Amino acid sequence: MNILILGSGGREHALAWKIAASPLCTKLYCVPGNAGIAQIAACADFDIADHRAVIAYAKDKKIDFVVVGPEAPLCAGITDDLEAAGLKTFGPSKWAARLEGSKGFTKDLCKANDIPTAAYKRFKSATDAKAYVRERGAPIVVKDDGLAAGKGVVVAATLEEAEAAIDMMFGGGSGKRAWEIVIEDCLVGEEASFFALCDGETAIPLGSAQDHKRVGDGDKGPNTGGMGAYSPAPIMTTEMNARVMREIVEPTVRAMNVMGAPFKGVLFAGLMITKDGPQLIEYNVRFGDPETQVLMLRLTSDLLPALIAARDGQLKNFSLRLADDAALTVVMAANGYPGDYAKGSVIAGLAGAAEVEGVEIFHAGTKSDGDRVLANGGRVLNVTARGKNVAEAQSRAYAAVDRIRWPEGFWRRDIGWRAVGREK
Ligand code: AMP
Repeated sequence: MNILILGSGGREHALAWKIAASPLCTKLYCVPGNAGIAQIAACADFDIADHRAVIAYAKDKKIDFVVVGPEAPLCAGITDDLEAAGLKTFGPSKWAARLEGSKGFTKDLCKANDIPTAAYKRFKSATDAKAYVRERGAPIVVKDDGLAAGKGVVVAATLEEAEAAIDMMFGGGSGKRAWEIVIEDCLVGEEASFFALCDGETAIPLGSAQDHKRVGDGDKGPNTGGMGAYSPAPIMTTEMNARVMREIVEPTVRAMNVMGAPFKGVLFAGLMITKDGPQLIEYNVRFGDPETQVLMLRLTSDLLPALIAARDGQLKNFSLRLADDAALTVVMAANGYPGDYAKGSVIAGLAGAAEVEGVEIFHAGTKSDGDRVLANGGRVLNVTARGKNVAEAQSRAYAAVDRIRWPEGFWRRDIGWRAVGREK
């Protein structure tokens, strides 16, 4: 089969690495891709927001199956457009992608189906939202209803912070003017990410991970897209995984099917494990980044037939196997990230770093310039390693990081600290 992956980050490199290993894959393509992906796939650099261009490219390359990486094209309906053009595609329809595209939609769905999530209310006016915040008290969480590229959530410790967040979101401070916001209670517990593959009716678990969102060591500083991750999440025991499937994922898949928007794709549940059990913080409708990088390293099953079965509604007789060991990824970012950063610096030592046992280096934001690899984004490399436990995966990943020569980059030195502490 000829396979096309859409996207350009470490998530897409990890998916490409896994799919390239499938006996079903004859030739792999990726748009736009990056320097790492270009080593295993044919890449073409054009904007995937242009669905017609994607369709023309896929027809030209005789693509049999398309895998969509990021959320923006899914919420814009790329799966619907590709399928309408006769291209089989992994990823939810525009209607089903509302699980990520509208927080209010997801909260209402949870409420109607008894899925555990924080108490909330939806608002279109700042005055009403502020009155609710004053009535409810702080801490409280203010969220833009729509996609906001990581800037749409404020966990407010005080009423003043909450009111400022309401004004900021309605005023356009999260990238665009929010047309609606959600205000919800603050949950207390430990966060974890859980992934399930869904075919519209059936969901099968694909493992758990934990990520580090803050830019600095000790989980300090501003939020980022993720500075590292590891899998499995120690808090996600076999019993907790089963509970999340039963109480959260399965009722969601049932409800989406009943409302005529069957969810096909990967459902990524952001969870808070509280003293009363798991609560849904949010859904994403695609693979996580950088969580996918660690999941792919642990996945022993062939991913490609599972993605095809999800698209075809045939997951019922499927299961996915993950190795019992752990995986950990360290994100190497350009100096200045998540603020302004420069592009174009040279990264050296990658080949030597990849020789460390158990290590795979996924490119997140790179481009090639002849034989050289140049930084081309904020998050640039995901140095990923397997090990018998998180501690071993961590020491292998950092051994590889230490072989990379890139003065214009930085990274955290403590990815996995909580899990490693528990192992001790
Ligand atoms: P989200 O974009 O919804 O994942 O939110 C970003 C982050 O905000 C989450 O990873 C949590 O750390 C935090 N967060 C969101 N909602 C809540 C909540 N109801 N209670 C506590 N923390 C939250």
